Amino acid sequence: MNLIFLGAPGAGKGTQAKRVMEKYKIPQVSTGDILREAVKNNTPLGQKAQEFMNKGLLVPDGIVIGIIEETLKDTSFSKGFILDGFPRTIPQAESLDKVLAKLSINLDYVINFQIVEEVLIKRLSGRRVCRECGQLYNIYFNPPIKENYCNQCGQELYQRKDDNIETIRERLKVYDVQTAPLIEYYENKRKLFTIDGNNEQGYIFSQLCNFLEN
Ligand code: AMP
Repeated sequence: MNLIFLGAPGAGKGTQAKRVMEKYKIPQVSTGDILREAVKNNTPLGQKAQEFMNKGLLVPDGIVIGIIEETLKDTSFSKGFILDGFPRTIPQAESLDKVLAKLSINLDYVINFQIVEEVLIKRLSGRRVCRECGQLYNIYFNPPIKENYCNQCGQELYQRKDDNIETIRERLKVYDVQTAPLIEYYENKRKLFTIDGNNEQGYIFSQLCNFLEN
């Protein structure tokens, strides 16, 4: 199955993508994760992207489109994928249409996670990530058993640089202006399925599974 997970930052795309990946063995492609890895390793891509990411702005379309094009050519995605955090602008969506057509890949659904701003801010400001395995936590909704350490691998958790309140507000603004128009874009293509992302993550996951299986 070929899916796009759409939604504001903090809407739960990454968390749900990881659960879908585990249950259905569909690999997740997160442009945010790819870019953060590039920044960590100080690659030329990372150097270009870092400044935009730290300010909560989008990395230029040409850069992320290139990443997706390269990634989808990899045969490990021939049995399906979840695009998490891509596309985020109309030009990215149009380029994706072209890339998919070129590779003869059909897009099945776009899952739109809808959520109110108040919850988003708590989700983002409370988010913590394991340095080692990438497991996600939230100090308000889903805290680790031992404060600041991963339940799975015992390593320390960290807070993303862009999860501070000022950058969060900027990212939400960017979402409203640049990404939200994609809802209509995919509605017009009859690909959109909207999920209420305000609920607890287990409940959201069961709704998602219901949809994917029926
Ligand atoms: P995320 O982890 O999806 O919230 O992405 C973190 C940051 O990476 C975003 O705030 C952007 O700066 C950058 N980024 C991730 N995906 C994209 C994309 N599709 N287009 C532009 N920038 C992106």
